[in-house]
Amino acid sequence: VIEAKNVSKWYGTFRALTDVNLTVRKGERIVICGPSGSGKSTLIRCFNRLEAHQEGEITVNGIRLHNKMRDLAEVRTNVGMVFQHFNLFPHMTVLMNCMAAPMWIKGMSEAEAKKIALKFLERVRIPEQANKFPGQLSGGQQQRVAIARSLCMEPAVMLFDEPTSSLDPEMVAEVLETMTSLAREGMTMVCVTHEMGFARSVADRVIFMDAGRIVEEGKPHDFFTKPQHERTKLFLHQIL
Ligand code: ATP
Ligand code: MG
Repeated sequence: VIEAKNVSKWYGTFRALTDVNLTVRKGERIVICGPSGSGKSTLIRCFNRLEAHQEGEITVNGIRLHNKMRDLAEVRTNVGMVFQHFNLFPHMTVLMNCMAAPMWIKGMSEAEAKKIALKFLERVRIPEQANKFPGQLSGGQQQRVAIARSLCMEPAVMLFDEPTSSLDPEMVAEVLETMTSLAREGMTMVCVTHEMGFARSVADRVIFMDAGRIVEEGKPHDFFTKPQHERTKLFLHQIL
């Protein structure tokens, strides 16, 4: 679904990504971890073209991302993204948050969009919140709305950028549970997270980034029990 080849990215003269190679296959669940500033967000933001890379190639669902792209909507339709700060539309109800993109971008009818919105709100187990505004919900509920909103576009892959790191501890579990159930249903997912329990139980592959490079990757068991690189060992030592 995603293929990144020798991807490099600069912010001005600062090199944020160096020669990143990553293939995400259909149904795969990838967890990306690494220290602050290592380029995790930058990398996944390149996957839906929120950021542009300067070198290398990124292909998402058969579409090659490049500078002369006219149709970003098609890329964004294929790639759902959930952020640390939920980024919901505050002036719209939960239901409208979920209906907006299918109607505006996919041209879906209101009735059809509503049906899909309710289906996915059901799936993240908050259908009863449909007519509230985001500000009236807990952080965990807002994040589940954000997940439902992305799912309404029926994306080929979901990107998560530290979806639980701004939540109070008691709300982390409900969001991880939602993500775990998505994974079990076969959703292709790339998750930037430091929730190592989630990585262990859900990921097919764990990727460790440092200073804009992929330093190490492996199956969760190998990654956690016998990390190869000093940098990885140090990082795991710090967070576990
Ligand atoms: P964190 O764990 O703190 O979220 P991260 O691994 O997601 O970190 P990025 O946000 O990808 O790291 O940032 C990688 C590097 O690029 C950092 O040094 C950061 O300061 C720099 N950077 C990120 N966004 C920009 C920007 N818009 N302009 C300039 N530099 C940026
Ligand atoms: Mg980040």
